[in-house]
Amino acid sequence: MRIIVVGAGVYGAAVAASLVRRGAAVTVVDAGAPGSGTSGASFSWVNSRDKRPLVYHELNVAGMAAHQRLAAAFPPGDWYHGGGGVEWTTDAAGLGAKVDGLVALGYGAKLLSRAEALELEPGIDPDRLPADGIAYYPDEGWVEPTRLIAHLLSRDVDVVAGDAVVGLDVSGDAVRAVRLEAGRVLAADAVVNCAGPQAAEVAAMAGLALPMRNLPCVLVYTSPVAVPLSRVVHAPDVHLRPEGDGRILLHSSEVDRGGQEAVDELVRAAASLYPGIRAATVESVRTGERPIPGDGLPVLGRVADLRNYFFAVSHSGVTLCLHAGELVADEVLGENRDDALAAFRFERFER
Ligand SMILES: Cc1cc2nc3c(=O)[nH]c(=O)nc-3n(C[C@H](O)[C@H](O)[C@H](O)COP(=O)(O)OP(=O)(O)OC[C@H]3O[C@@H](n4cnc5c(N)ncnc54)[C@H](O)[C@@H]3O)c2cc1C
Repeated sequence: MRIIVVGAGVYGAAVAASLVRRGAAVTVVDAGAPGSGTSGASFSWVNSRDKRPLVYHELNVAGMAAHQRLAAAFPPGDWYHGGGGVEWTTDAAGLGAKVDGLVALGYGAKLLSRAEALELEPGIDPDRLPADGIAYYPDEGWVEPTRLIAHLLSRDVDVVAGDAVVGLDVSGDAVRAVRLEAGRVLAADAVVNCAGPQAAEVAAMAGLALPMRNLPCVLVYTSPVAVPLSRVVHAPDVHLRPEGDGRILLHSSEVDRGGQEAVDELVRAAASLYPGIRAATVESVRTGERPIPGDGLPVLGRVADLRNYFFAVSHSGVTLCLHAGELVADEVLGENRDDALAAFRFERFER
C-alpha cells in the first residue's frame, strides 16, 4: 500500500510516522520544506486549558499525554518541554472558577500565591503579580515543532519537498493518483490531507468543499537574553515562553492585528513583567496562519464518499498531532475509529 500524505507540518509528520511504524509505505509531499508552514511559526503550547466542548477537551488531553509518551520513548526527546503553565488575569473570580472546572475534569490545575509563583518564575517583577489566585497547570508544556517534525520524519518516511500537489485523479469512490507541480504522478492507495491552512484547496482537488476560516497570527522572537523564563506564562497583556538558545517568544491577541506599534507595545509589556527582557532586542517577527475549520473543531479521519481519502486538519495541531495523527492512521489502515472521531467528521459540513 502506498500512502500519500499531503503536507509535512506536525500533522503530516505525525500521521506518516504512525503509518510507517505499522509497516505502511508512505510518501509525504510538501510544497516547501518540512515545517515551513504554520508549524514553523507557532506558539506550540501543549494544553487543554480552554478547549470546549468536552469531546474536544478530551482529545487535547490525550494529545498532551501522547507528547509526554513520545518524548519519554526517545530520550532525550528534547523537542518537548514540560514545566507546566502559569496564568493570571484581571478576573480573579473567573480564573478561580476555571481552575475548579478543570480540576473537576481531572485536569492538573491549582492556585498559587505570589510567593509560590515567584519560586517557579523568579524573573517576574513581584509588583506585577497579584498576591494570590495565580493559576498553575503542571501537566502543560511546549514543543519545538520543527525538531519534532524532524524526529517523526527520520524513520523510513519518503519525503518529497519543494513540489506542490496540484491535482488528484479520482475515479469512482477512490483517489487513484496524486499530481505534482513538477510533473510527476504518484500512484496512491490512500491520500491524507494534512495541508494545514491550505486544506480547503487540497480538499477541492477531490471535489470536497471544506470550509475554513483561517486567521493570521503574529509572533515576536527576541534575541537571546539571560532571563529565567522556564515555562509558558499567560499574563493579562502578554503571553511568553522560552524559545531556543535563550530567546523568548512573545504573543498577545492584540499583536495579531499587526503593525509595528502593536509589536512595540507587546515588547514593553513583556519587559515590564520580566525586567531582564529590557536587555533583549526583537530578532524577528513572524506571521503564521492558524488553520481553522469552519466550526473551529478538527476535521479528522475518513470521508464517507471517498473511501481512501482522509483528513488531519485543525487548529491546536501541535497539541493534537500525535494522538489525532494516530487515530487518523488507524483509519487509513482500515480501522473504524468512530469511538474517538465521530464528532470530528468532514460530513458535518454537508448537513
Ligand atoms: C501564531 C500561532 C500560534 C499557535 N499556537 C498554538 C499553540 O500554542 N498550541 C497548539 O497546539 N497549536 C497552536 N497553533 C496552531 C498550530 O500551530 C497548527 O494547528 C499546526 O501547526 C498545524 O499543523 P499542520 O501540519 O496542519 O499545518 P502546517 O504546519 O501548515 O503544514 C501544512 C503543510 O502543507 C503544505 N502544503 C499545503 N498545500 C500543499 C500542496 N498543495 N501540496 C503540497 N504541500 C502543501 C505546506 O507547505 C505546509 O508545510 C498556533 C498557530 C499559530 C499560527
